[in-house]
Amino acid sequence: MTTTIETGAIWSEPEPDIPRSAIRETIETEVLICGAGNAGLMAAISAAKLGAKTLVIEKNRRIGFIKPYMGAVDTKAQKAAGEKALIDREEIIQELVNYGIKCTENNHVYGPGYRPSKYAGSNKVDEKLIRLWAEESGAAFDFLAEELAEYGIRHVAEYDTADGYHGGFRAYPTHSKLLVPPLKGGPFAIIHAGIYVLERFFEKKTRSLGARIMFNTAMVKLVKEGDRVAGVIARKKDGTYIRINAATGVLLCTGGYAAREEMVAKVNPEATAISCLRFVQPGNFGDGIRAGLWAGAAKDDYPSAMVFDRGIAKPGGRSDLPIRPGGSFDSFFFGSQPFMKVNMDGKRYCNESVPYDVIINPLQNEKNGVACMIWDSNYWEHVKSFSTIGCSRMVPSKSRPRTYEGMGRFMNSGMLMMMRMKGYIKKARTIEGLARKLRLPAEEFRATVERYNQMARAGEDRDFGKPAKDMLALDRPPYYGVTYGGWLLTTMDGLRINENIQVVDRNGNAIEGLYAAGDVAGGFFANNFYPELVVGVAVGKSMTFARHAVLHMTGSVRRTDQVN
Ligand SMILES: Cc1cc2nc3c(=O)[nH]c(=O)nc-3n(C[C@H](O)[C@H](O)[C@H](O)COP(=O)(O)OP(=O)(O)OC[C@H]3O[C@@H](n4cnc5c(N)ncnc54)[C@H](O)[C@@H]3O)c2cc1C
Repeated sequence: MTTTIETGAIWSEPEPDIPRSAIRETIETEVLICGAGNAGLMAAISAAKLGAKTLVIEKNRRIGFIKPYMGAVDTKAQKAAGEKALIDREEIIQELVNYGIKCTENNHVYGPGYRPSKYAGSNKVDEKLIRLWAEESGAAFDFLAEELAEYGIRHVAEYDTADGYHGGFRAYPTHSKLLVPPLKGGPFAIIHAGIYVLERFFEKKTRSLGARIMFNTAMVKLVKEGDRVAGVIARKKDGTYIRINAATGVLLCTGGYAAREEMVAKVNPEATAISCLRFVQPGNFGDGIRAGLWAGAAKDDYPSAMVFDRGIAKPGGRSDLPIRPGGSFDSFFFGSQPFMKVNMDGKRYCNESVPYDVIINPLQNEKNGVACMIWDSNYWEHVKSFSTIGCSRMVPSKSRPRTYEGMGRFMNSGMLMMMRMKGYIKKARTIEGLARKLRLPAEEFRATVERYNQMARAGEDRDFGKPAKDMLALDRPPYYGVTYGGWLLTTMDGLRINENIQVVDRNGNAIEGLYAAGDVAGGFFANNFYPELVVGVAVGKSMTFARHAVLHMTGSVRRTDQVN
């Protein structure tokens, strides 16, 4: 029978009708995990470690990119690093609950100079889920670190948050890092840091614990027996279907829907309007969200996306559909530095010293959804003064043990050179010459730079209140500029889940046998983008909840019963 879901036209594709005769094989398992990314592999390692018969199905031919920025509270690594790495749990919970609104009250969380986010969360989230992350992430990442230690992977705390603020916003030392041992003959810090090689270790661990991973196998729909989800129907690469019965539970870890940009434009129009680069996990088409809805689940009403200020365009370029697709070498990390930014009229339009999830929003109001970022040949001195943190860090971190965070001057100049060769970055000996190359009105632009420099020398930004330490004169030619906008990474609105990570229906009742963790699940972010100063919280909650789902479905924890 074909049914149509009722959550609006956007998600209303009909459920496919797959007759029994089309199913070639039936597989029996206990725990079934759909999707092998950050959440899926944490779940697989957890389930296999508990001795459950575990199967992971993954749509692509390899596991998803394991993102190394993992946000946690109270890991052993943080405790070992001492006070600097410790976080006030209640404070961080309130920060996430009210993300983007508390600042207007100028209270203890925010320092002076705060500017509210246009897309504030404003408590449209599920505080119980945020508490769960704050309470369990430490133990979850300690577990993972212990499992991966046999490969020489070390768990370190990235706690260097400079002065603890970024332009009036509080920064939290949440970044929990799995440090991969250096490859033989591989001197590059970025490889040292574990980027692009963590997948190998996650997969090895999953298999060594006895879990099975089936690649090129896409979950298509859930199978219900009565009110309970009993398994899934999946499609293999050759187009044939299989049925998988899961005696213990099905965990959806299929990510968001960022790879379907026309859907992002419908659900998250503010994200596409300011994005000029799309580098997302291929295959994240919202399959899990759709399948959950067909099975009677509720979904977040508020959209949420992850957009970093690191998309760049050629002069005259714009944001919005179609968004230029790219890979890791297309994302412009330097874009998160709070240099002077001007709109296409050559005028400043905001305080540049705010987190990167905030600075990107004002582009909604600017021509073509893009702006130009300007720097001069003295730029590294400015970067040192900015001292940004998280994945926007440029200056090597002071955390000990070393975390190898911060790409440093040498690697950054290589990236700038590459972007110049590709025609994105423009260089000129004069401000007028740069204006011509960036297609900015020369007179306006020159006046803006002159005023900026005067205010920088006076130590006060009378136009937008940018902190004096970030307000440095642009007066050392040659000058550089780039047309910049957003980089769309993922979506974060998804199926509603409870504290057990069970998917719930519109009355809040759990759908037995069905769990969802990662970007397929919602309740954690609303209307806002990922808060960069709670470093790695998207990955952190994805993996913490994936583990919790497994513990719950196998009867290893019953959180709601713990309260006496
Ligand atoms: C480039 C990039 C950088 C990021 N950086 C950060 C960061 O610094 N900090 C942070 O907190 N977050 C970051 N994120 C976001 C973070 O990666 C996600 O929030 C997190 O990975 C979600 O994990 P997941 O397992 O839900 O999704 P994913 O890791 O995307 O995994 C989903 C998996 O499901 C598979 N899949 C999809 N559909 C199906 C199907 N029908 N059947 C079977 N398999 C399917 C996909 O192929 C994929 O392997 C970043 C994201 C990207 C893309």
